[in-house]
Amino acid sequence: MKYALVTGGSRGIGRAVCLKLAEMGYPVLINYQSNQSAAEETKSLVEASGGTAELLPFDVANQREAENSLSAWVENHADDYIAVLVNNAGIRRDNLMFWMQDEEWSAVLNTGLHGAFYVTRSLVKYMLNKKFGRIVNIVSISGVNGMPGQTNYAAAKAGVIGLTKSLALETAKKRVTVNAVAPGFIETDMTKDLNQEEVKKLVPAQRFGKAEEVADLVGFLASEKAGYITGQVIQISGGL
Ligand code: NDP
Repeated sequence: MKYALVTGGSRGIGRAVCLKLAEMGYPVLINYQSNQSAAEETKSLVEASGGTAELLPFDVANQREAENSLSAWVENHADDYIAVLVNNAGIRRDNLMFWMQDEEWSAVLNTGLHGAFYVTRSLVKYMLNKKFGRIVNIVSISGVNGMPGQTNYAAAKAGVIGLTKSLALETAKKRVTVNAVAPGFIETDMTKDLNQEEVKKLVPAQRFGKAEEVADLVGFLASEKAGYITGQVIQISGGL
């Protein structure tokens, strides 16, 4: 059986992606760090729409915890493998470079960039063995264009873009595609501190995006139909 793993699947974009992949027929592994009730709610929503889901909590930034959780899952699922991986877990700790604390820098890099590395390295070998896989990394237009106050976040996302492009070249021959989705402003907990009325004036589409709109794009990249798209960064930003 082919499974899908969504890191940070408990809330926001990750939750919408879990629902989309379940609708496509994948049993979904919902990873999260600490918000168990939100993860349970995602699981219930998947089940209510006719899909199946399991919770797989671990901190993506903690190498040992991430690798141990994934190898335990692999050991217990001899006939299965994770064919779709969505590296979505991410955090913001915005500050101007001048005031940026070590902790703000390393927390964002550890979660966004190192977390994606630990999880992907653990799973890509199984995709290569089975000669099919889909890896979708959620980055940000901040990692493409830069954003004041986000040197840490933009560096993490730009790092994942480099990882995406390079890994795509390593895996294309084995039908494993690796792409990145770069959202603009999406309505989730991550953006709830922003003044939406003001910020949306900067967006050509004059609104924030919905998590479901990002999930539709991720679903397409994860589908069989997208087999000839790899190493790409696709922006979903209302024209920003
Ligand atoms: P949310 O803040 O709504 O949700 C973040 C998710 O990531 C939660 O499920 C959270 O788990 C999980 N998470 C955070 N840290 C870890 C960790 N160390 N290990 C495992 N899981 C973790 O974020 P969004 O849905 O808005 O963002 C999802 C992704 O999209 C992020 O990578 C973000 O950078 C990116 N993005 C978002 C944009 C936006 O406008 N919202 C724009 C561009 C990119 P828990 O519930 O346990 O805390």
